Amino acid sequence: MIASGANNSLTSDISKATREEARVQLRLAEAIFEHRLPPGTKLPEIDLCQILRTSRGTLRKVLDRLAGEELVEQVPNRGAFVARPSVAVTRDVYALRRILETGVVRALARCGGCQPWVNEVRLQVGEEREANEAGDTGRYIRLAGKFHLDLAAATGNSALNQHLKRVVAQTSLMTALYDEPGTNTCSVQEHLDILDAIETGRHEEAERLMEDHLIGCERQLRLDDESKAVDLSVALGESPRAARTPANRALKAPVKPKKAAPMHAKKAIFTTRLDASTS
Ligand SMILES: [Zn+2]
Repeated sequence: MIASGANNSLTSDISKATREEARVQLRLAEAIFEHRLPPGTKLPEIDLCQILRTSRGTLRKVLDRLAGEELVEQVPNRGAFVARPSVAVTRDVYALRRILETGVVRALARCGGCQPWVNEVRLQVGEEREANEAGDTGRYIRLAGKFHLDLAAATGNSALNQHLKRVVAQTSLMTALYDEPGTNTCSVQEHLDILDAIETGRHEEAERLMEDHLIGCERQLRLDDESKAVDLSVALGESPRAARTPANRALKAPVKPKKAAPMHAKKAIFTTRLDASTS
């Protein structure tokens, strides 16, 4: 039997470890969602432990978790990389988002006058517009994704919410991979139109608007095979001096993504903060 003091200490240690893992996961996930760590970027353990000031054990747990969410790919004998979703997977994920999110807006619009959350989300769309106009790309991407997750959260369906967090996060990778670097495909006006349709109970229009919105997002995707040099310290918010450490200089070799298959896509068929808390 464990004495209560020891038990409290054990609980405290677990809690501390969990908080540390959450901190590291958030740093990595936000850098991925905001496209500071593009798809294909190598994530070497030693350098990440140094930059994020964490242990190898914590980092491995976080990388395992991100791999489970398909944001990180772990390659035997080569290490971990930011995932590079294929064109086929991209199409599937956008198709899944359309199915899920037209269902979300239908459910919300049918709810009639029970939309106390709409004004809050509308204000947030205003912030999304400001961030876009100010050129604050990271914040804009986070808020644009959050719009979609907030709608899912408003349904009160936790399973749906969890599912959507995952696919919204995957979509963030896809836009980083196939869209213009540093841009986001969501339209602020389309977000407002969707909100208006929900608020006034026009469920068929809300569904159509969401479907069109997501198709429009997917149609903007294109192949972009440009190799990019990624500095992990800069991407993860460290100082320029930290970025010049010998360990990090070794990371500046261009990332050479595999050639992706052509996307016939234009005829197509869907990040936070991770805990979005986003999309
Ligand atoms: Zn959107």
